Amino acid sequence: MTATDKIISEYQKFVLNTYTRSPVAAVRGEGSWVWDADGKKYLDLFPGWGVSGLGHCHPRVVAAVREQAGRLLHMPNNFFNELQGRLARRIAEGAFPGKVFFGNSGAEANEGAIKLARRYGEADGRFEILTMKSSFHGRTLATVTATGQEKYHSGFGPLPPGFIHLPFNDLEAFERAITPRTVAVMLELVQGEGGVRPARPDYIKAIRGICDARGLLMIVDEVQTGMGRTGELFAFQNYGVTPDLMTLAKALGGGLPIGALVVSERLKDVLTPGTHASTFGGSPLVCAAALAVFDAMEEENLLRNVRSAGGYLREKLEELQSEFAAVREVRGMGLLLGMECDREGKPVVEACLERGVIINCTAGNVLRLMPACNIGQPEIDLGVGILREAMNKIF
Ligand SMILES: *Cc1c(COP(=O)(O)O)cnc(C)c1O
Repeated sequence: MTATDKIISEYQKFVLNTYTRSPVAAVRGEGSWVWDADGKKYLDLFPGWGVSGLGHCHPRVVAAVREQAGRLLHMPNNFFNELQGRLARRIAEGAFPGKVFFGNSGAEANEGAIKLARRYGEADGRFEILTMKSSFHGRTLATVTATGQEKYHSGFGPLPPGFIHLPFNDLEAFERAITPRTVAVMLELVQGEGGVRPARPDYIKAIRGICDARGLLMIVDEVQTGMGRTGELFAFQNYGVTPDLMTLAKALGGGLPIGALVVSERLKDVLTPGTHASTFGGSPLVCAAALAVFDAMEEENLLRNVRSAGGYLREKLEELQSEFAAVREVRGMGLLLGMECDREGKPVVEACLERGVIINCTAGNVLRLMPACNIGQPEIDLGVGILREAMNKIF
C-alpha cells in the first residue's frame, strides 16, 4: 500500500463523498510545483482553483502567517483588529470608494451581496435578482439558486424565490427581464465554471447604464477573477465600469480562507449593526495573509506578469488549436484561459495528471488553465509540451 493509498482509504471510511477526486494526495507545495505523499512532483497549472493565485506557499504569505500566528489568531468582530481595517482600506483603494464586509468564502461573500440587495429593495417591494445561465455563485442555498445551472439545483428544492436566470451576453434578454420587482443583477465578468466565457464590453457597459437608469444594483462576482487573474487587480477594471457591489474570495487570502463583500460608498449604510455577521470573518490571521498578497502583487509587479505570461500562454494554446482539429476555440483573459473542445475534456486532464501536470476541465469540454500569477515562461513551455503529449494520446 502506498502512502497515497493509505490517505485515500481514510477518506473512503470517514470523509463524506461529495467530490469527484483525482488520486493525488499533495503534502508540499512551492510556487507552481506540488509533491504528493509518494514523492511524485506535479506542475500545477490550476493551483487551488485559483486560491493559490501566487502559487503554493508564497514566501511573503508564509512569513506573514507565521508571524501573525505567534501574535494573535482570532478576535471576534465585536472588537476591532488593526489588520482588518488595513485590509479593508487596501481593497477599497484598489477597487472603488466604499466599505468591506469579511466572511470566509465566495459563497458567503455572495450571500452578503444578496442580503444587502434584498434589504436595499425592501422599502419598495423589490427583491428579484437577475443572474446568468452558466454562472457559478456558490453552494449555499441562496447562492446555488443564483447559480444558473440546473445540475446544481437538482434535489434541493424548494429553492428560495427571487432569482431569474438569463442568457449571458444577451442585452435584450436583460432589458426584457426587468420588472418593478427587480432590485439587482449579479454576474461574473468571465464565467469561470461555466466554461471560461468573457462578458462582452458593450454588454457590460449597457448593463451599467441600465442599472443607473432603473435604480438596480450591479453586483459583480469576482471570486474567481479578482486579485489580478485577468491582468487588472479586478476584472471590472478591464471594462471601464464600476460595480455597486463586488465579491472576492479565492486568491484574496493567498491560500487561507477569506471572502469579502465590497460595497460602494452610497450603499454603505444599507446593512446596519445586527443585520449581518460572520464569526470567523476577517480574523487577524487571514487578514495578515491577504495583506501579504497585496504586497506581493505590488512589489513583484505581478499584474505585468499576468499580462505577459497570459499573452504567451494564449499563443501556445492557439498553436495547439491549429494542431488539433478537436479544439474549437481558445478564450479567456489574462491567466484565466480555456480551450473549448468538440468532445469531453476529462481524459486529457487525466492524461496530463499521469504525466505530472495539473489542469482542469469545466463545462464538460473546456480545458481550463489558471496558473499562478508569477508563473514563468519555462514552466508554461513545460506544461504546454505535456498538454500536447496528452492531447496527442487522447484526440
Ligand atoms: C468558486 C466560486 C464561488 C464560490 O466560492 P466558495 O469559496 O467555494 O464558496 C463563487 N463564485 C465564483 C465566480 C467562483 O468561482
